Amino acid sequence: MITVDAAWGHVERCSRCLADQLVPIGEALGLRLSAAVFSRVDSPPFDKSMLDGFAVVSSDRSPTRKVIEQVVAGGVPHHAVVPGMAINVMTGAPIPEGADAIVKVEDVRHLDEKTIEMPTSGVAHGKGVLPRAAAFHKGQEVLAAGRPLSPVDIALLAEIGLAEVRVISRPRVAVLATGNELVKAGWPVERGQITNSNGPMLIALLESEQVRSIDLGIGRDDPAELRRLMGEGLAADILIVTGGVSAGVLDLVPGVLQELGVEQVFHKVRMKPGKPLWFGQYEQAGHRALVFGLPGNPVSTLVAFEIFVKPALRVLRGESFRPPASMRGVLTAQVSLRGKRPTYYPCRIHFGDRAAGLPKVEPLAWSGSADLAALTRANALAVLPVQEAEFAVGDQVEVIAL
Ligand code: AMP
Ligand code: MG
Repeated sequence: MITVDAAWGHVERCSRCLADQLVPIGEALGLRLSAAVFSRVDSPPFDKSMLDGFAVVSSDRSPTRKVIEQVVAGGVPHHAVVPGMAINVMTGAPIPEGADAIVKVEDVRHLDEKTIEMPTSGVAHGKGVLPRAAAFHKGQEVLAAGRPLSPVDIALLAEIGLAEVRVISRPRVAVLATGNELVKAGWPVERGQITNSNGPMLIALLESEQVRSIDLGIGRDDPAELRRLMGEGLAADILIVTGGVSAGVLDLVPGVLQELGVEQVFHKVRMKPGKPLWFGQYEQAGHRALVFGLPGNPVSTLVAFEIFVKPALRVLRGESFRPPASMRGVLTAQVSLRGKRPTYYPCRIHFGDRAAGLPKVEPLAWSGSADLAALTRANALAVLPVQEAEFAVGDQVEVIAL
């Protein structure tokens, strides 16, 4: 059995950033740019009006102007503006030649259909005009390499005319729940059976990580069936299998994975819950897959996902490896550790309620690794080291936010 630190070392060593690919901008949210993006255009592409109003010559002091044309956004002016004249422009319309300022429509008075009276204060040079390339110019770097694309970044890509963008590929993660006792949610449950909750949880966790999941459903504890389903899952970048990695007579997953050519990297980690965790790597014809065999109990599955799968996913997506971020908090109740393994304990961080400058951390009533209901009340896992068996009210602990 290895420590969590040693296990992180192995996961880091085996995880590689995925190759890049060209994807439509509509599918690029959250993905990282594999190269910097340089603009192919000036923004704005022409001097444009920021107002609905009248394009005029600002140095012209005549109190009224004759309106010679109207230009909407998307249109182009056909005349130049000279003293005594104005062109009615809408927001986004190109600035007509000769004009250097826009008077707001609200600031003029219409004397007749074709004549306007200027405001007595006149109009300052440049007012209402957004000059060509004011935001950025052609050839300028607009987005740095490695950046995860936000909705606004996607808008910027569209603005510069890119329909596709080169990004680090989105990881594909296959999920297989194993166990003879498992039934798909919504189906009748006979005596001895339970519903598969890990599958839907993992798919949802992956979705919140913006990962594309491949649901392999439920596999019975049968070598041929496991071989077929896990063989399919090895085509993904990560295969997550739950159940079947402990010491029971039907814990067949490690054996079948090794038959399929997956190299075992470690099996069993000194942690609670999650001890039976199995981790391996697979390489064939240039394709690499990481395989996580998570213990079947749902809390173990969640903890192992948070502690090990997420850091690996980050590396595949182009980030550097890091264990889950933690913060310090102060316990509001006593907790005792049973056993000799560091424990990830479901708790609730009260961010607005502080003691000694730190948020309070409430350990939740928890009946063990099958207790999903306790997890629904949790927003964090307290990391309780083995050096102490008892944690008292007021003790400071590390917590990992969920
Ligand atoms: P295992 O890791 O296969 O020994 O399973 C450990 C415990 O987790 C057993 O009580 C299983 O019934 C339960 N379990 C296994 N897989 C699932 C699952 N997909 N959803 C809910 N509970 C599960
Ligand atoms: Mg099982």
